[in-house]
Amino acid sequence: MTSVWGIARSQSVALLGMEAMVVTIEAWTGSGLPRTTMVGLPDAALTQAKERCRAAVLSAGFSWPPQVLTINLTPASLPKAGSHYDLGIAAAVLAAEGVIHPSVLEEIVLFGELGLDGKVHPVRGVLPALLGVRRVGIERAVVPVSQLNEARLVEGLTVHGVRNIQDLIEVLNGESGVDAIAEVPGPSEVSASPDLKDVVGLSEARFALEVAAAGRHHLYFHGPPGVGKTLLASCLPSILPDLSVREAMEVAAIHSLVDLSIDSLPVRPPYSAPHHSASLASLIGGGARIARPGAVSLAHRGVLFLDEAPEFSTQALEAMRTPLELGEIILGRCELSVKYPARFQLVLAANPCPCGLASTPRSKCTCTPMAIRKYGARVSGPILDRIDIQSRILPVRQCLADKQSMDVDSSLTVAERVQAARIRQSDRLRNTTWTTNAELPGRFVRKELPLPTGMGMVDSAVINGSLSARGVDKVLKVAWTVADLLEADRPSGDHLALALALRQGQENPQ
Ligand SMILES: [Zn+2]
Repeated sequence: MTSVWGIARSQSVALLGMEAMVVTIEAWTGSGLPRTTMVGLPDAALTQAKERCRAAVLSAGFSWPPQVLTINLTPASLPKAGSHYDLGIAAAVLAAEGVIHPSVLEEIVLFGELGLDGKVHPVRGVLPALLGVRRVGIERAVVPVSQLNEARLVEGLTVHGVRNIQDLIEVLNGESGVDAIAEVPGPSEVSASPDLKDVVGLSEARFALEVAAAGRHHLYFHGPPGVGKTLLASCLPSILPDLSVREAMEVAAIHSLVDLSIDSLPVRPPYSAPHHSASLASLIGGGARIARPGAVSLAHRGVLFLDEAPEFSTQALEAMRTPLELGEIILGRCELSVKYPARFQLVLAANPCPCGLASTPRSKCTCTPMAIRKYGARVSGPILDRIDIQSRILPVRQCLADKQSMDVDSSLTVAERVQAARIRQSDRLRNTTWTTNAELPGRFVRKELPLPTGMGMVDSAVINGSLSARGVDKVLKVAWTVADLLEADRPSGDHLALALALRQGQENPQ
């Protein structure tokens, strides 16, 4: 049976960043010398799709139209990239050839790449694509069988996993496949982050980390190499609260665009630690045609750690400003710009000087004072303005380390305190749009919340120049977090003194 007009249609999805748009694939056959053409703004990978699909269909034992075949992807104005249109193209051609009844393709979306042998290969972006599809009311989808678990994360969608062209035909002709509405699989534990009980000594820095976690404050560690800055930063995810289902879905959808093995929703916040030599594209996102998410988006709802922060290029550090301000990144391309969420908690670490030896005892540092000053100034004002807590870490003497490491809290214990502090914050802020102290605008902290006692010490810090006017708001926010951690209803003078010390990177006065 050939379709009436020599036209068959199937549906797939164009992914523009996290946004999914349904694309209709038309296969038109007409008389003339055998020739397959593809129209509708396809990219290079997609232009090759016709060759892959032809080989796959023939390998599976079916015929490819022996006349003129035109494949059109609409809307034509939408740039289309990637190899996931293969299944839709093959289905439309098979329908035009009468192997599949064209009507079965009307309410189903197809997403997957074909091999020359007719096998279906996994593709990136299944989760954001199907979330978008579900939003426009489509209820059935076909995906590579290896990505069935990822597709099943989308509630209310009937998904079919196919291994090859034969499976595809059987599913579409209703000859196989379980049509049960997919249930959301239970979350799985994937946390592999180090534990705070492995951190030797460093009680001040541990406290700074705990306060940062509790109020979601950005944090800057200063200290010589090997002192434990990286270990501390990598412990941060282990003391943050679990992701909510909505957050986990956002995280999984972003990771789906770079990772082929999303099997379940993540429970713990992600951790992204790009190297200072990483390209700008891998940091903030980029790539040909449609930009991919970078480290700032892979850290969304989690932690972005920039070790040796002054070594990052000025361009890279400047590019952090937008996500820090807006919680998202917009990547412009000539054809279109895409937007990715990038709401992360920033942790920076820096050595005291370019050689790293400046603050060690009997220092062998040979850096000039000018070089040290320049190095420190590389992380510029706009980023420093967002940092609420600065912690200076000094090397721990071994005898002291042994004593201090005897009885330290594990990540689990600290996480419980952090969670309790978060609940205090969300209770206090329940009539606002904010949930954590770090998000609060300065005016709100100064005018709407009671001021701590002992504001005189903050005034003196401003007068003697060790604290900027903007820094005052930060100290107040951190003081609230300290109070929340210590289960006080409002910050006391002691809490304020602690906050001031954490802001200025001094030693903890306790
Ligand atoms: Zn040095």
